[in-house]
Amino acid sequence: MATIAFIGLGNMGGPMAANLVKAGHKVVAFDLVEASRSQAKSDGAAIAESSVSAVKGADVVVTMLPAGKHVLSVWTDVLPAISKGALIIECSTIDVESAKQAHALAAKQGVASIDAPVSGGTGGAKAATLTFMCGGEDKAFAAAKPVLEKMGKKIVHCGGAGAGQAAKICNNMILGISMIAVSEAFSLAEKLGLSHQALFDVASTSSGQCWSLTSYCPVPGPVPASPANNDYKPGFAAALMLKDLTLAQDAANAAGAATPLGKHAQEIYKTFDAAGNGGVDFSGIIRHVRSLAGKS
Ligand code: NAD
Repeated sequence: MATIAFIGLGNMGGPMAANLVKAGHKVVAFDLVEASRSQAKSDGAAIAESSVSAVKGADVVVTMLPAGKHVLSVWTDVLPAISKGALIIECSTIDVESAKQAHALAAKQGVASIDAPVSGGTGGAKAATLTFMCGGEDKAFAAAKPVLEKMGKKIVHCGGAGAGQAAKICNNMILGISMIAVSEAFSLAEKLGLSHQALFDVASTSSGQCWSLTSYCPVPGPVPASPANNDYKPGFAAALMLKDLTLAQDAANAAGAATPLGKHAQEIYKTFDAAGNGGVDFSGIIRHVRSLAGKS
C-alpha cells in the first residue's frame, strides 16, 4: 500500500481521503481549516503541519482545492519537496490553462502528473463512486488509476495534459444548459395545465430524456432523491455551476469556439447567484425560470 499525501480536505477532499484510508493506504493530510483536519484525523489520516511536510516521502500526492490559483500556489510550494519518481494528481475543477501550467511545473521537477477532475458530487465522494476524467501521459495515468479506483468507479483517460479539465467543463456546460432546458419545459407544462408526472413519464422515455430530467429532476415528485424534494439543498450548489460555466466560457473564448447556449446559461446562473442563491442547488434554477414569466 502507498503513502499518499492529501491536500484540501473540504466537502469533496475529506471523504475522498477517508476512502483512501479505508482502502488501506497511509494517508498524510493537510488543509488550512482546523475542522477539516480534525475530521480527517478521526477518519484515520495522519495530519501534517503544512502542505510541504505532508508530501515529504509520499509516493502519491493528491490535491483537491477550490480553483486554479490555489492549485498553482500549492503545487509551486510542494513540488520541490516531492520525491523524484512520485506522482501528483490534481482533482479540483480548474481552468485548462492552469492545469497545463501545473503539469509543466511538475515536469520541471521530474514528478509525474495527472489532471483528474471528478463528477459525482459529495454523494459520489462519500460512496467512492466518482467518475475521474484524466489528462496526462500514459505512464502517469497507469500509475494513478489504482489510486483513483479507491475513490471512484469510472476512470477515463481523456488525452494529454489538461484533457481531463477540458472534458469536465464540456460535460458541465451540457449539464447547465440541460437543467435550464428541463426547467423551461416544466414551467411551460405548468402554464399548459400538464402535471409534472405526466411530462416526466413522457419525456423520460422520449427524445427529451437526459440526466437533468431522469436523475436530478428539478420539480419534486418524479425522482424522489433529487434536491427538489429537499427544498433545493445542494447537491451541487449554483455557485459551483456558475464557476464551471465560467470556466467553459473562458476556454471557449481562448480557443475561439462558438458556445451561444453555454454563454446564455452562464448569464442565467450569474443572475441567480447574484440574487443570493449561490448556496441553493443548481436545479433551483427552475424558480428563476418561473420568475421570468411575463418578462420576456
Ligand atoms: P471546498 O471549498 O469544500 O474544499 C476546498 C478545501 O481546500 C477547503 O477545505 C480549503 O480550506 C482547502 N484549501 C484551500 N486552499 C488551501 C491551501 N493553500 N492549502 C490547503 N488547503 C487549502 O470545495 P469542494 O466542494 O471540496 O470542491 C473542491 C473542488 O472540487 C473544486 O474545484 C470544485 O469545483 C470541485 N468539485 C466539487 C463538487 C461538489 O459537489 N462539491 C463536485 C465536483 C467537483
